[in-house]
Amino acid sequence: MNPLNILLLGTQGSGKGTQATRLSEYFNIPTISTGEILREEMEKGTELGKLAQSYINRGNLVPDDVVSSIVRKELSRDKYVDGVILDGYPRNIVQAETLADFFTLNYVLLIDISDEEAVKRVTGRRICPKCGENYHINFNPPKEDEICDKCKTKLESREDTTPEAVETRLKVYHSLTEPLVGFYKDKGILIKINGEQGIAEVFEEILTKLKEHGLHNEEK
Ligand code: AMP
Repeated sequence: MNPLNILLLGTQGSGKGTQATRLSEYFNIPTISTGEILREEMEKGTELGKLAQSYINRGNLVPDDVVSSIVRKELSRDKYVDGVILDGYPRNIVQAETLADFFTLNYVLLIDISDEEAVKRVTGRRICPKCGENYHINFNPPKEDEICDKCKTKLESREDTTPEAVETRLKVYHSLTEPLVGFYKDKGILIKINGEQGIAEVFEEILTKLKEHGLHNEEK
């Protein structure tokens, strides 16, 4: 059986992380999210976390060599023999070329949403600083305005979801990450998905298009 290696592309708020989780459960293969790995390192206060913090909080990319070495090391583990869902790496052409030197992607899913929708989705996110519960002021609001349902603490925005950081991240996406669309289109593995639908509809479209592009369930 060939491994199933999928990359998810899209702006913040496109639902990449959500779809990565769904795909991972459906095909029973693990995900690698560089954003998650870096946030965990920040929480633990490691050297890597400290280095990443200033880039992440401002919405800039962490240096290529740092993320590429994390992913290269992670991908060498046995748990990825059947495949992987990559979320957030590669994020620019240099990273894509580095990855191509040691790893073959089968499909690249571009989850497409407008910048307006991205801003609306991301700036509405809230987190409870005490218990870590996540909310969204439009899609999953707390019962009491800006107050955690569970522990009654005042909710906060993650530092990289302030309007300034979101604007920077969108600029970074368009100038550095979007060129990957052409890069993978040229390789014939790019699949565009309409991200402005409900979570289940996006997932259905992904499965339908993967089949149209030759993926059969028995492959996994
Ligand atoms: P994400 O959760 O994927 O939106 O990532 C959050 C932040 O982590 C990004 O805004 C970057 O600062 C950093 N990051 C994640 N993946 C990468 C990557 N492949 N290259 C550089 N920085 C990254």
